[in-house]
Amino acid sequence: MNTLIFATNNQHKVDEVRQVLGNQFAIITLKEAGIEIDIPEPHDTLEANASEKSTTIQQLTGKNCFSEDTGLEISFLNGAPGVKSARFAGEGRSFKANIEKVLQLMADTTQRQAQFRTVISLLLDGKEFQFEGICEGEILTEERGEKGFGYDPIFIPKGSKLSFAEMNPEQKNACSHRKKAMDKLILFLQTKQ
Ligand code: IMP
Repeated sequence: MNTLIFATNNQHKVDEVRQVLGNQFAIITLKEAGIEIDIPEPHDTLEANASEKSTTIQQLTGKNCFSEDTGLEISFLNGAPGVKSARFAGEGRSFKANIEKVLQLMADTTQRQAQFRTVISLLLDGKEFQFEGICEGEILTEERGEKGFGYDPIFIPKGSKLSFAEMNPEQKNACSHRKKAMDKLILFLQTKQ
């Protein structure tokens, strides 16, 4: 199979995905493919946004590619920020402002259940396939840790003593939503070899 393009501009996601893939499959990033584009995320589901991203890049390059869209789904907030996770506190897409908004909205509740959900959209020879990965956990009452990105400092996976931001990349990849979706993608790609 030819090299797959990973349709994202998020270097944190690229690093995590490369670590999961090891030397099983080679991917190239948009940057490495010389593509500069702010891929739109206009839809109200992770599935539709993931599809939009992979379709945009497939049409632009004519190559096989995959994308992913991820949301933090908080029970107390009826699933928000969900598909709006990147822009929860506004168009600035600031990790810090997004975290502050979540902590503020949840300041008075003990209902802390949440999950990260990743949807991968693979476009292979003109056909789309989707893979989902979920990581259940809780929202902390304050930030913990410096590693990772996005909402990592306020998310603690079920059964873990460490927040995602306190974990090294291997520890996060042992249980993360992205890794679970990637595992399904890898299994699928192996059947195509
Ligand atoms: P998107 O999938 O790039 O649209 O990301 C949505 C939002 O969720 C962004 O604010 C990301 O920073 C955040 N996000 C995505 N994946 C993760 C993760 O693994 N940990 C923490 N935050 C994440």
